[in-house]
Amino acid sequence: MTISIVAGNWKMNTTLREATSLVSEMKPRLDDAQGVRKVVCPPFVSLASMADLLRGSTISVGAQNMHHEDSGAYTGEVSPLMAAELCEYVVLGHSERRQHFGETDESVNLKVKAANRVGLKPILCVGERLDERDEGRAEALVERQLRGGLEGEDSVSGLVVAYEPVWAIGTGRAATPDVAQDMMAHIRSVLTSLYGGSTASDVPLLYGGSVNAANATDYMKESDIDGALVGGASLDADSFVEIVRAAAEARP
Ligand code: PEP
Repeated sequence: MTISIVAGNWKMNTTLREATSLVSEMKPRLDDAQGVRKVVCPPFVSLASMADLLRGSTISVGAQNMHHEDSGAYTGEVSPLMAAELCEYVVLGHSERRQHFGETDESVNLKVKAANRVGLKPILCVGERLDERDEGRAEALVERQLRGGLEGEDSVSGLVVAYEPVWAIGTGRAATPDVAQDMMAHIRSVLTSLYGGSTASDVPLLYGGSVNAANATDYMKESDIDGALVGGASLDADSFVEIVRAAAEARP
């Protein structure tokens, strides 16, 4: 069975002090939850401290982004080597990065390649905007992002794909489990065409977009949904712990 993952994307939230207190509150409760991989993705400035706090626990750390070059004159950027020293995962191609920072399928692809090169597990985010869905282009758009992000990559060991419809992120308007499952099946079929069925079935597919403690179980029951990428609700210890428990119970 594909591993289940619940990852928390803290975005540009939490000072170091707040991050420390959030992780300290979650850690003992998350450590108890079995059968699901737990990942927290704090801002860069807190990564080293969170990695220290979580060393020896069952909770992994992820970065929210990175540059594709290992070093160089890129003021303000964080390299794959720097991230790999502190984390296991890296979120790549989040829609907020595509929208606000001009990331494209090509730049995301460079980052996916860089992550694989340094042994980071990419959480590749894909998802359509509302106008693209309304125009009937959601599947084609997601397929383009997926193929573009993975262009030239032979190995997908460690790859995680997060389907996050842009219209569902931070809006409280979550996709229905049916809508999410339909897209996940499409993603799985694209991965199958690229890498074959057995490899594709091992890639964890996460749904993201207004996941909370009340709706998490409904997603986890779907056959192609292996977990969740959680934004807002991951900033509240009780909610995140509940989502992790729901995932653990739904996929024992
Ligand atoms: C996200 O930022 O990846 C996300 C899914 O946010 P939210 O859960 O707040 O919709």
